Amino acid sequence: MIDYRSDTVTLPTPAMLAYMQAAPLGDDVFGEDPSINALEAKTAGLFGMEAGLFCPSGTMTNQLAIKTHTQAGDEVICEELSHIYQYEGGGIASNSGCSVKLLRGSRGRITADQVLAAIHPDDVHKPISKLVSLENTCNRGGGACYDFSAIEAIQKVAKSNGLGLHLDGARIFNAIVHKNEDPKQYGKVFDSISICLSKGLGAPVGSVLLGSAPFIKKARRWRKVFGGGMRQAGSLAAAGIYALDNHIERLKEDHAKALEIRDALLKKDFVKEIFEVETNIVIAHIEGKYSAKEFTQALKEKNILVIAMTPTLVRFVLHLDISSEQLAMTLGTIEKL
Ligand SMILES: *Cc1c(COP(=O)(O)O)cnc(C)c1O
Repeated sequence: MIDYRSDTVTLPTPAMLAYMQAAPLGDDVFGEDPSINALEAKTAGLFGMEAGLFCPSGTMTNQLAIKTHTQAGDEVICEELSHIYQYEGGGIASNSGCSVKLLRGSRGRITADQVLAAIHPDDVHKPISKLVSLENTCNRGGGACYDFSAIEAIQKVAKSNGLGLHLDGARIFNAIVHKNEDPKQYGKVFDSISICLSKGLGAPVGSVLLGSAPFIKKARRWRKVFGGGMRQAGSLAAAGIYALDNHIERLKEDHAKALEIRDALLKKDFVKEIFEVETNIVIAHIEGKYSAKEFTQALKEKNILVIAMTPTLVRFVLHLDISSEQLAMTLGTIEKL
């Protein structure tokens, strides 16, 4: 099967596995796993932030960030397609007791003016606006990237109103590579950043939460409370170290392959529209000959897996485990549909 359902499906490469096997281990709840400590320090250093916290998933790093920034009764401002709202099981409410102010943006991106308008005045009737959360790249927005100046404008609004700013950076390296940015730019403007090692970077498991030393100290306590304190998990952290050292630049290959899939799809009558392809995600609007589900089925019969996100939208996600041969087969299959 050629699997475009998500960039989470990658398997560790032989070199990554060898690196994982050689990792020194210890008990991380005691703070004694050298590989986890090294990953946390390395990731924090890359972004110019003080400290990092290794977690089993991006859902956990996002939810820990929200828990650490807020108190029950506070409100979190985010775009309506945000992963933290759509795909984390209602955790903002159940873990943190917060309400959510949803904004309708453009392909997952919001603006400083929208954030400013969403912040409540100090009024007993209103929840306390406490945190703004951005996603870059935006998953449901088809891998859309923010312009950094838009992020800076949002940061100014958040800061001048006493709100924290969190980044769901599950695919931040896709944005950084696409826009030719420096991770340290992000470390300067965000109070906390969640990055995923298990998406395009190709590690089997893991995310890192970044922030100031006091913030991460607090988040570390909540990680234990949430059941995320792992013991000799350094082999997983080693996969992350290997991925940061070897798999960032190559994300450009995934982006180039995504453009080839876009071009093949655009030639078909049943493809009405494709969201602008910026990174490794292609979302196509299908209509006429196939519904999204029927299109998915037709590809599956040719050993190609994609996801129907809605009755009309289909998503392809490029990643480390899609070879050039597999891409060529996919392009040939699309041509014949
Ligand atoms: C995948 C993803 C996450 C984290 O997902 P986990 O499966 O919990 O690691 C968070 N945010 C976005 C935008 C994602 O795509």
